[in-house]
Amino acid sequence: MRLKSKAKSELFRELPSVDEVIRTSGVAELVETHGQSPVTDATRQVLARLRAEINSGLLDHSTLLLALTDLPGAIEKELLQSLSLSLRPVINATGVILHTNLGRAPLAQAALDHVLEIGPRYSNLEFDIEAGQRGKRDVHVDRLFRKLLVDADGSASVERDSAKEISTIVVNNNAAGVLLALNTLAEGGEVIVSRGELVEIGGSFRIPEVLAKSGATLREVGTTNRTRVHDYEKAINERTRALLRVHRSNFEITGFTEQPAVKELSELARQRQIPLVEDLGSGALVDLQNFGIGGESTVLDSLRAGVDVVTYSGDKLLGGPQAGLLSGRAELIGRMRKNSLFRALRVDKLTYAALEATLLAYVKRDHDAIPALRMMRLSTQEIGRRAEALTKSLLASAPKWKAEVVDGESVIGGGAAPSSVLLTQLVSLSRPDLSADELAVRLRHCDPPIITRVEEGRLLLDLRTVFPDQDSAVLEALQHLA
Ligand SMILES: *Cc1c(COP(=O)(O)O)cnc(C)c1O
Repeated sequence: MRLKSKAKSELFRELPSVDEVIRTSGVAELVETHGQSPVTDATRQVLARLRAEINSGLLDHSTLLLALTDLPGAIEKELLQSLSLSLRPVINATGVILHTNLGRAPLAQAALDHVLEIGPRYSNLEFDIEAGQRGKRDVHVDRLFRKLLVDADGSASVERDSAKEISTIVVNNNAAGVLLALNTLAEGGEVIVSRGELVEIGGSFRIPEVLAKSGATLREVGTTNRTRVHDYEKAINERTRALLRVHRSNFEITGFTEQPAVKELSELARQRQIPLVEDLGSGALVDLQNFGIGGESTVLDSLRAGVDVVTYSGDKLLGGPQAGLLSGRAELIGRMRKNSLFRALRVDKLTYAALEATLLAYVKRDHDAIPALRMMRLSTQEIGRRAEALTKSLLASAPKWKAEVVDGESVIGGGAAPSSVLLTQLVSLSRPDLSADELAVRLRHCDPPIITRVEEGRLLLDLRTVFPDQDSAVLEALQHLA
């Protein structure tokens, strides 16, 4: 041990100082092009990395010498990395459409165009052009939500007397939406939730914790698998401020289960004059049944069933930017708008621009303009055709690969319709010289990185989530994989 630490201290002594490094010829040139301070920073980083490597025994005398000869190269690499963007595009070949780690819903082109129009210039974000005075930022999307949530199929499905008027506000995300709704309606009082709905959604969103932050007290009713309307009814007391219903997202309870219909809960809420709030999670604006996906009710379904306030995400099934939407009775939404928390949770012009253009696509019923919906609607045949073409070209040009097209399933993600199956055709890949895990690592290091699935020793690509104009980039990356 002593010998080892003695050897280490000798290695440490061979490390030059930052000043010494900066005066060497290769590095001095870098200072001329990039300036003193970024080069000094990069040099510090590189030397710190070498120190850490000595410390953990990764370097001996000869490998350290080698590293020191290439110091200018390492510093330049560090410099370029620190001066380049860290957030960058990847190719999603996982088949998970709403992949939270990969940015959830890709934006529609129209959303991007509108962001480009609004972002770099001034806009009427909070300015009423007719009146020439201050306006409200929510009007830009509220008018579209009114069309989508009231007039959806031309029939007046949600009653239109003023008490039932529906309005919508936008906050940073659905977690913020739930927080705002509960804080506005129930701070200092009780909120009744079924024990079967006290879930944690990915990324540490836990219903009991959000409730605590809102200043309301959780009143649990029922059991994990069965809760009846009567359980809610028994728990109502003079401190009750809201009934909360939560979409269980990725978590399913099957077998001996019972959960009241939303309609039953809303009738109870109406009788007792207590608002019913629903955290719908994904929040579809169109019936996914039209695309062959069952088990996911829409925002309009909830409002029709009498829910007073529905909260949902902008970047899940809706297919827009990150946002939290609160749609419901105008009087309650108005109270939320007046809450000072709303000021803290509001979103900027870029979000409004992207959201407005996305909603406009819904109003025009142009669902294919929204990438997440388009991916859901892609047929197995269409995906299979692209998978076959990719496989064929790969086998013809890079004989090292073993490749075939196999049946598989895509995933919607975002906690939506977890039990529904989206059939797909996968490209299944393997190579004699590299394991599937090693292949996945190498594909992640491509530019742009390609994110794949590994199952049972095979590398799988699902082209459902790959944009068709990226197929050639995937093929090229596979051809050139050393
Ligand atoms: C996804 C989800 C959330 C969190 O939404 P964010 O927009 O990510 O904040 C909350 N509740 C449910 C039921 C969800 O599915």
